[in-house]
Order: sequence, then C-alpha cells, then structure tokens
Amino acid sequence: MSEELIIKEIDDNKEEYIEFLRELIKAKSYNPPGDEKNVALKIKDYLSRERIKSEIFPFGENRANLLAFLNDNFNNKNLLYNGHMDVVPPGNEAEWKNPPLSATIKRKKLIFGRGATDMKGPLAAMIIALKILKKLDLNLSGNLILNAVADEETGGKLGTKWCLDNKLNSIKCDFTIVGEPTGLNPFPKAIVLGEKGRIVLKLITNGMSAHASVPFIGKNAISMMSDIIQNLTKLENYIPKIEPPLSIEELKKLMMSVFQSKEMFERIYKEQKVLPNLLKALTQYTITVTKINGGIKDNVVPDQCEAIFDIRLLPNQSIEEILEGITKLVIELGYIVNDQPTGKPEEIFVYLEVLNQSEASFWKDWKKDLTLKNLFNIIEHIYKEKPYYFVFPASSDANYYRNSNFCKKTILFGPGRGRTAHAKNEFIEIQDFINAIKVYTLFAYNFLKESNN
Ligand SMILES: [Zn+2]
Repeated sequence: MSEELIIKEIDDNKEEYIEFLRELIKAKSYNPPGDEKNVALKIKDYLSRERIKSEIFPFGENRANLLAFLNDNFNNKNLLYNGHMDVVPPGNEAEWKNPPLSATIKRKKLIFGRGATDMKGPLAAMIIALKILKKLDLNLSGNLILNAVADEETGGKLGTKWCLDNKLNSIKCDFTIVGEPTGLNPFPKAIVLGEKGRIVLKLITNGMSAHASVPFIGKNAISMMSDIIQNLTKLENYIPKIEPPLSIEELKKLMMSVFQSKEMFERIYKEQKVLPNLLKALTQYTITVTKINGGIKDNVVPDQCEAIFDIRLLPNQSIEEILEGITKLVIELGYIVNDQPTGKPEEIFVYLEVLNQSEASFWKDWKKDLTLKNLFNIIEHIYKEKPYYFVFPASSDANYYRNSNFCKKTILFGPGRGRTAHAKNEFIEIQDFINAIKVYTLFAYNFLKESNN
C-alpha cells in the first residue's frame, strides 16, 4: 500500500525534516524589509537534491517568489500548495528566551523561532510533501504545484497576487491549500473556508490653529477627529447591508461538532468570553481606531490630527463601498474631503488614504465537496481527532485564489497555533509539524492518483 509507504518514509526521516525546518527559520526574512530570497535559495537547494526543478523569481532588494512542480504538465488535476516565506519582525529581541533566528529545540518537543508557526513550519511541511512524492515515484499523473511566496505579511500583492497574474494564469487549478497555522487551543485543527478582509485607513483632519485662550478663532483638528470617531457607528447607514456567510448559529454548530456534548460546548461558550466575541467579529464588519496623533503645544488649538483605522470586512463587502460610505459620512458631518493631505493656509478639510488593503473571501459551495471530505478524513486519521470547519477573523492570501476564479476551492490548513504567531517566543510542536507532513503528502497522493482513471 502506497499510504503505508508514505507514512514509513516520513517516520524514518523525521530528523532530516526537522533540520530542514530549522534551516528555514534561520534564513532571515523579516518583512519589512522582506529578504525572502534567503529562504527561496534554501528551498531550491533542498528540492534540487531530489532533482525537483524550481524557479526563483527575484524582485526588489533580496526579495523573491518561488514555484516548483511535481510533474512538467498541467493536463490532469492540479493541486496547489501555497506558503509564505516572509515573517513579521521579532520586536525587542531581548524579550525572547532564545534568539528568534536560533531555531532552538526544547525537550525534543518544541522548535522555537520567528516563523516556526507562521509559517515556516507549514511551508517546510509542504515542501517536504513534494519531495516525498517525487522520491517515492508513485506514478501520479496530476501535478502538485508548490508556490512559496513573499509579501504575505504586508498584503500579498508582490507575492501570491504577482504569481497568480504572471506565472499561474494559464493553469486550471482544482484545489488549493494555503498553509497558515489553523490550530486554536483548546480546539483541534480547523479547516478554514474563508476569512475577513482588511483596510488600513489613514485619516487626517486639517483645522486651523489659534491661541487656546481665544479658541473660537481657530478650528480644533482633534475635536474634528473626535466628532468623526463618535459618528462612525452611523457608517452602517452609508454602506450596503451584507449578510455574513455563516450566521452565529451556524458557526456555533460548526464549533460544537468538536465537543462531546452540546451541554459541554454551551458551558465553555459561557465561561470563555473569547468565544462569543470571536463569533461576533466573524459575523459583522468592524472599524477600530488603532492610532491617534495630534497637537503640538499646551496652549495652541491644534490644526492637524491623524488617526489610523483598522477596518475588517465580511466576504462580499467591497473595499470601495466602505471607503465611499466613510467619505459620505464625513461630508454629512459638514466637512470637506480633500484629495491631498495638505491644503491652502486656513483651509479646513479631511483627507483619507488607504495604507493597506486585502479583500475578504469565502468558499460558498464547500458543503457538498468530496475532496474536502477526504481531506477532513485524512486529518482525523493522522491527528486522531476530528477537525472542524471554520472561518478566520484575520486576512490571508487565500482571497486572491477564491476571488479570482483561479481556484474557488481554497482552504487554509496548517500545523502551528494561531496564538503564538506574531508573538515573542513563537514555537511549533514537532509532532504537529510531522503530522502536517503526513496530511499534505497523503492528501496530495490521494487527490492526484485519481487522475490516472
Ligand atoms: Zn501567515
């Protein structure tokens, strides 16, 4: 049986896989600035040892995307594995127990380092799956496409989106896994069907300065900002009403499936505030002011105030509609919206600028899909625990696939825990990493062998 051969191959070579993951963690790729080429070169070298051809597409300063294929034609079924090579910067390194690039192993169980979970662990597992399928020469006629990308942590335009537009546009893809970590303690692994979108909006209010002893002469930019922030709750009157893809009741049902009983779930749901709040966030758009800066002197009416808004969108909610809504609201409040951050002296206005954006997406017809069911069963078999279907509150590169028609059937699944991502002392459990190699390899094998028929 080929399945048993695959499992044995993985169990026999664990040490080598762990070393490869450590190599990826040690290859510095903090974004900003990126430096993803350091990782791409390691991947190319590793794959070439199994005579798998890969191509690096360099850009910018030491940045790159990478593509590798199991076979050299795309005539049968195509499966794509996507993983990002960039990681978020480590912050204050003194707060790490071990240096973030050290890839320290502890108690033979955990690997620590920036990117261990998000997402060099999942990425390494995908690369290793490709290598195993090639090495075992299982006569698969379908193709496994590995896309290691840059730029995910800053929106994905130069990474996943670029590869899609420039290198993959002629390929018909049948199923895609984006390897983001989908573990959320105390729950089992999730299979993620969609996620929210995001706009990072900078808003500047431009007033008029005056001496604070006679404030009526000026126009206070901080008061203008405060006026706008307080009225943001009215934004829903200025944008189209959108239903969430899954209601709170439906989300509860999906989560409940991992508990032994309904009562147990209800108890935990009541005890843990995080759960009801998570479901609330998954069923509505949110707008949060995350930074504010204004004023220059104790006794001067400020003429400028700047704030950042983090806006999270539901699938089907368009970025343009939200921006139009905010503009209308600001105008309704009596302000002029300028298209430049600076104006003529004594001009009173508001300026809006999008700093970053990523669309939301959702795989609508997931319920009937047999491939998805097969993935579910493989995960249950390997992890010895039923996974559950869910959606993510954070954004991911999956939106480029689902929203472009390249591959509606795109899910997120990967080893690692969401909570340790982007945090100091990030780590991955070695067992989780090895399990993911098994899932990725077995799933690809099962998916691609069917095309022999
Ligand atoms: Zn990630």
